[in-house]
Amino acid sequence: MTDTRYIYDLSEGDISLKSTLGGKGAGIAEMNRIGVPVPDAFTVTTQSCVAAMENDGNWPEGLAEQVDAALARLEERTGLKLGDPDKPLLVSVRSGAVVSMPGMMDTILNLGISDASVPAVAALAGNERFAYDCYRRFIQMYGEVVEGVAPNVYEDALTELKNARGVAQDTDLTAADLKELTETFKTLSNEALGGAWTSDPREQLIRAINAVFKSWMNPRAEVYRKANGISRRLGTAVNVQQMVFGNRGDTSATGVCFSRNPATGTKELYGEFLVNAQGEDVVAGIRTPRPLAEMEEVLPDAFHELLDTMEKLELHNRDMQDMEFTVEDGKLYMLQTRNGKRTAAAAVKIAREMVAEGLLTKDEALLRVEPAQLDALLHPGIDPNNTEKPIVKGLPASPGAAVGGVCFSADEAAERGNRGEKIILVRFETTPDDIHGVMVAQGVLTAHGGMTSHAAVVARGMGITCVAGATAIKIDPAGKKVTIDGVDYHDGDVITLNGSTGEVFAGALTLVPADLNEDFLSIVEWADETRRLGVRANAENFEDASKARELGAEGIGLARTEHMFMAADRLPSVRKMILAENEEQRAAALEEILPMQQADFEQIFTAMKGLPVTVRLLDPPLHEFLPNLVDQSLLVQKLELTGAPTEQVEAEKATLAQVKRLHEQNPMLGTRGCRLAMLYPSIPEMQARAIIKAALAVLDREGETVGVEIMIPLVAYQQELSTQREIVTKAVEEEFELAGKRLDYTIGTMIELPRAAVCANEIAEVADFFSFGTNDLTQTGIGISRDDAEQGFLGYYVDTEVLAANPFETIDQDGVGGLVSLGVERGRSVKPDLKTGVCGEHGGDPASIEFFHKAGLNYVSCSPYRVPIARLAAAQAVLKNK
Ligand code: PEP
Ligand code: MG
Repeated sequence: MTDTRYIYDLSEGDISLKSTLGGKGAGIAEMNRIGVPVPDAFTVTTQSCVAAMENDGNWPEGLAEQVDAALARLEERTGLKLGDPDKPLLVSVRSGAVVSMPGMMDTILNLGISDASVPAVAALAGNERFAYDCYRRFIQMYGEVVEGVAPNVYEDALTELKNARGVAQDTDLTAADLKELTETFKTLSNEALGGAWTSDPREQLIRAINAVFKSWMNPRAEVYRKANGISRRLGTAVNVQQMVFGNRGDTSATGVCFSRNPATGTKELYGEFLVNAQGEDVVAGIRTPRPLAEMEEVLPDAFHELLDTMEKLELHNRDMQDMEFTVEDGKLYMLQTRNGKRTAAAAVKIAREMVAEGLLTKDEALLRVEPAQLDALLHPGIDPNNTEKPIVKGLPASPGAAVGGVCFSADEAAERGNRGEKIILVRFETTPDDIHGVMVAQGVLTAHGGMTSHAAVVARGMGITCVAGATAIKIDPAGKKVTIDGVDYHDGDVITLNGSTGEVFAGALTLVPADLNEDFLSIVEWADETRRLGVRANAENFEDASKARELGAEGIGLARTEHMFMAADRLPSVRKMILAENEEQRAAALEEILPMQQADFEQIFTAMKGLPVTVRLLDPPLHEFLPNLVDQSLLVQKLELTGAPTEQVEAEKATLAQVKRLHEQNPMLGTRGCRLAMLYPSIPEMQARAIIKAALAVLDREGETVGVEIMIPLVAYQQELSTQREIVTKAVEEEFELAGKRLDYTIGTMIELPRAAVCANEIAEVADFFSFGTNDLTQTGIGISRDDAEQGFLGYYVDTEVLAANPFETIDQDGVGGLVSLGVERGRSVKPDLKTGVCGEHGGDPASIEFFHKAGLNYVSCSPYRVPIARLAAAQAVLKNK
């Protein structure tokens, strides 16, 4: 015999036992404890479900006995007995996970009704029709949920009977009809189960509890858990509760209500009810429920008690409540209460108003808003009432919603976009060559690439909606069409992207605009009063920098200069630089690029004047700025075959030779970052000059400039940084000399390779600051390719919970996070005040931000639209770790 406790009676629980009793079980226990009327019950723990799940569905030893004992106690307390011919007890068997998963699992009502007990149910209610209505509902629900009988078996019989009687509604069937239907249902169950239908209520109860356990693993629950990051290891509790009947005539009713409007947050009456109905009638849409306000007329006493109870429950739980109730013969019972799900707009409004009402402190209110939700307030979103089904799903790479005509080339997108057309750029993947098309598109859809792929990072940075890695789409750029689920979408056909979910829809869905209202602003301002971490943005142009500043960024933590090399008007000069045959040619090409870079920097610095800006020198390998190897080979072949002029053929051949020369098998681990700058020192030199010239120009023009921070990427060795430092310092000092004035600047490094983290003490000797590039640190620390892994094994790992989360979204705290902590610690062992930040995508992820807070970093830097999320998450990190 085991001592493990698998069951709690209603009076033994309270809200603190939520992880054991589930949200619903703990909620009813707590209501009972504070004197809210709740039907008596017992709860089978979540641990029981987990134990059964871990043992191929077999119940743990002792559980069946504990169910019997709990049932006996419930019978004792209620004075009723399951299946009894005189005083029958009827129960509901309902799931209830720790985190609410509305509608995802199964429920069985009216259990305990049987041939033996149905006459007593009728007599006690004085209503035979009611008794047989309960019975036929029970057989159907039990058959479908517990025994797996196909739903149409029962529905067809019901329809047949209604046709035979010439009536349209279930409610038009008489007691005799329902009695007959009950017999038909029993026969159907028996037929479907080959005679194995059990009519013993005790046996039914055991099987019903087991069915609810099993429903934890049903496909829709799996999908919901995955979408909401809920672990399958939590299991569900099962609540066995005495039935109360909302379908006992016109003085009975059932309904759902919220203590505030969950869509807008407004404090007002919100809910629906039905007279003479059972719970599922309200949600199933068979009968249209009535607005709650109308209940005042039909059931005034219960209505007023419900209002008082709602208020009491909200005050007690100090949060907006989502409740279910039943009125049986005029008496109100509460069946459920939980903190209600709400839209982002409602979340900020409720948090702010509850502080004003004195219900919450500011700190508590800050913890009530889900940081990731704030994002929804910043981008136009898909109308929450949308009922369209997606045609395909990819990775939710950049949130928001976008509607536009599909377009398959970046050049065309740029041209049409600039003409004001709304474009969705559809590409196999995006490359630097596409940037001009991306910039003017409403959204980007790719078949390849992950959450930190180029397309995703760029799109997020610019607030452009992106669905990446939609592997199921087939793009035919030459034929100008994309095939999705067998349907062709041609150039210009309109689709809608939901970058927050990865869903793609055919046609134009209605979008609702973002509004930065007072509620939102109050919440992020309170967050600023609390947080310790600084929040900067990753931005590399005027618009993004201005947007970031508007959203509260305290500077730029990463300006990726390669994005400036990629613009269409720069590429010819950049290619000249790459294809240069000697230093003179290269210097000449760099002279062309310098003023363009300077102009870019001036724009950013103007937007950010008075704040620090970290400019990172060129990172990607040079061949990224050249044509693709295969494309260029094909071009040369084509030119040769078509007898193109020799000069042209030779020029393209020369390009091909360069492309081949620079081609690397693993460019991500190749000649990029400072390695490139070591081979071509004239590049960092030019960039340093452009930065300083720009900073001085903005100082002259605006009377104020930025805190200049020059950052060297992909450093592994101290020697690399000291060499780069020398090159940059020399160029900067020369510029000061030329200008006859100077300004403060610092030179720091990215820490994005494991060696750099481990040897951070050596590197710190020549660094003024560290910025952890956690994208590359994840790639190199775990050994997974950023661009490939998410569609391959990594997706499988996340789906199967080998990993709790995608490490490119949420930092792998033990591994990659360990490298960050080590880097901070070793760096500060040499320079105690060394400034450290994070500029990888994790800088905008709430869970990662909490980790960075604890690791003692100075700031995080993220995409402009994630700045408010980071501000709130940084405040929550303080509050959670007080
Ligand atoms: C990083 O590696 O985390 C980083 C910010 O650099 P990038 O994403 O540009 O490689
Ligand atoms: Mg990097």
